[in-house]
Amino acid sequence: MIDLRSDTVTQPTEEMRRAMAAAELGDDVYGEDPTVNRLQEMVAEMLGKEDALLVTSGTQGNQVSILAHCPPGSEVIVEEEAHIVYYEAGAAAALAGVQFRTLKGERGAPDAAQVREAIRADNIHFPPTSLICLENTHNRAGGAIIPLEKMESIYQVACEHGIPVHLDGARLFNAAVATGIPARKFAAFTHTVQICLSKGLAAPVGSVVAGPREWIERARRWRKRLGGGMRHAGIIAAPGIVALQTMVERLAEDHANARFLAEGLAAMPGIEIDPRLVETNIVVATLKKMKAADFTRALRERGVLANPFSSYKVRFVTHKDVSRVDVEKALKEIAAVLKNGGH
Ligand SMILES: *Cc1c(COP(=O)(O)O)cnc(C)c1O
Repeated sequence: MIDLRSDTVTQPTEEMRRAMAAAELGDDVYGEDPTVNRLQEMVAEMLGKEDALLVTSGTQGNQVSILAHCPPGSEVIVEEEAHIVYYEAGAAAALAGVQFRTLKGERGAPDAAQVREAIRADNIHFPPTSLICLENTHNRAGGAIIPLEKMESIYQVACEHGIPVHLDGARLFNAAVATGIPARKFAAFTHTVQICLSKGLAAPVGSVVAGPREWIERARRWRKRLGGGMRHAGIIAAPGIVALQTMVERLAEDHANARFLAEGLAAMPGIEIDPRLVETNIVVATLKKMKAADFTRALRERGVLANPFSSYKVRFVTHKDVSRVDVEKALKEIAAVLKNGGH
């Protein structure tokens, strides 16, 4: 199978497995796991933040962030197709008791003027605005990068109003590698950041949130409440460290493969995509005649996996476990499905 459903399907490397076996461990609920502490220091340093916290998943990272920032009944400004809105099972409403003020973004991000307009005035009728969330790269916008200048201008508006900015940076390192701008420069225009170790970086489990020391302590309390206090968690921190040391620069290969895939698709009848808009490792294409679910079912029978993204949209994600040759094979199978399915 050539699995283009997600970069979460990546298997850990041999070096990660060795690091897991050899990891020095302690009880992390007591703060005594040296490997977890090393990972957290490493991420804080990479993102230019005071402190960091290992969490079980990206969803838990975003949710402890919302919980540590926002009182119940307050409002979170967020792009309408953000992961936090679309894919976290309503957690922010169920757990933090916040409501979303969703903005329609361009390539995944609203502009500073839209954000300024959405911030609530001090009025007894209004929910107070407690947080602005951004997502870089943006999954549903096809791996789009929020430009640094846009992040800066939103951050300025947020700071003028004393509202924190949280970045869902599940794929922040994809943005960093694609632009050549270090992750810490993007992080400089945020108060808190969540990064995923288990996407293109290929670690088996885990995410890290980073931010001010006092805020991380609040996030730690929320993580415990959510059942995320993990004991000898160095077992998962160890491959996370290897991921950050060995898997970041190679994301460029995934980006090149995604562009190659998009160019191949663009040349086919029956499917639409502008390859110039493929900036990182996610390719979202629109089918002209077939339903996405029918397309992905037929493609699976030919040994290629992809995810339906809406009725007529399909998503392909490149990662370390698909090679250029795999992408070439996938293109042949896609062409065959489109040919058979188009009439
Ligand atoms: C995958 C992802 C998450 C959540 O990660 P999980 O570990 O699957 O909970 C959050 N945000 C974005 C943009 C993602 O792509």
